[in-house]
Amino acid sequence: MTRPFTFPGLTTRVVFGHGTLAQVPEEVARLGHSRALVLSTPHQKAEAQALADRLGNRAGGIFAGATMHTPVEVTDQAIAAYQAARADCIVSLGGGSTTGLGKAIAVRTGADQVVIPTTYAGSEMTDILGETAGGEKTTRRDPAIRPEVVVYDVDLTLTLPVTLTVTSALNAIAHAMEALYAPDRNPVVEAMVREALPAFRGALPVLIRSPQDREARSDALYAAWCCSTALGYVSMALHHKLAHVLGGSFGLPHAETHAVLLPHTTAYNEPAVDGLLQPIADTFGLGSAGKGLWHFAKSLNAPLRLSDLGLTARDLDRAADIATKNPYANPRPVTRDGIRHLLQQAFEGHCPA
Ligand code: NAD
Repeated sequence: MTRPFTFPGLTTRVVFGHGTLAQVPEEVARLGHSRALVLSTPHQKAEAQALADRLGNRAGGIFAGATMHTPVEVTDQAIAAYQAARADCIVSLGGGSTTGLGKAIAVRTGADQVVIPTTYAGSEMTDILGETAGGEKTTRRDPAIRPEVVVYDVDLTLTLPVTLTVTSALNAIAHAMEALYAPDRNPVVEAMVREALPAFRGALPVLIRSPQDREARSDALYAAWCCSTALGYVSMALHHKLAHVLGGSFGLPHAETHAVLLPHTTAYNEPAVDGLLQPIADTFGLGSAGKGLWHFAKSLNAPLRLSDLGLTARDLDRAADIATKNPYANPRPVTRDGIRHLLQQAFEGHCPA
């Protein structure tokens, strides 16, 4: 029986395909804008410049200073560049760090955003912004954060390094995992998760062998869109809370941290959600969502231990304290002992029991 639900409606226009970067100028024009500031990380500056050249007189310049965890100082510099360029919209080309900077500008200035994601992290379809100020990461949701247009161009993912291919995909699967048991889940979100899981399951083993495989790249980017959309419509729980604590308070790298935590947070909640994680168990095997994800991650050579990401044994108590002080709502009670045990398992990299 279909249970009662509320679906908030989709508000982001999506263009998906190969070579769709060529459509960015008309998407900017379609929004009624004439001067875009193009954002990127320093690493993707050349691509941002090429896109600005393609935009021609619709470009107001580039800002290539996006960085992980959206520090407010960088946002201030980018807003100064936006104003100096007399820009009237943002075009973000890159992964979650660049998308995050665009969102930070948008929520402060009201600028429209065209986002061109080049990883699978899945920030582009959400109304979520995480920012760092004074060494602390805070997360907020606001309709003004959600991008107006997302242009997925599979060709841009052909250069995505294998490690980030795997870890950003596991970041996306974490969105899907928490969407399956979110109290505000709905049939559209559930359907997108069911699309995404086998698409990633099929594509990732191909991509670690053949990173240029266009069909697998296409499937993976499609799966990332599904996962990002799912996260955009539901609440986050324990998994995202722990990732934010470890990234914000201990400086751990974002995608890798999600990758290591995912089997453990999944296993923690699995007994409390009455079969809702069954699609994950069915996709990844072993009759258990947590175990299935751990073995899948291992088969992809994903990082498995928090100790390999720079966390020390001494950090575990403090991480458990911070994570349980203001926990997000979660299907299984978040206890200090339970989280300390989870962190120990993830620290050592064991398959969850
Ligand atoms: P990233 O954006 O930091 O990218 C990592 C590096 O890879 C950068 O140097 C980037 O330029 C490079 N890169 C990206 N795509 C490439 C490509 N196709 N080819 C070659 N190099 C490429 O990494 P990420 O994991 O995508 O994003 C992490 C950030 O995203 C974090 O700050 C996280 O908080 C945020 N995030 C936010 C949400 C949300 O909904 N708010 C969701 C997921 C992630």
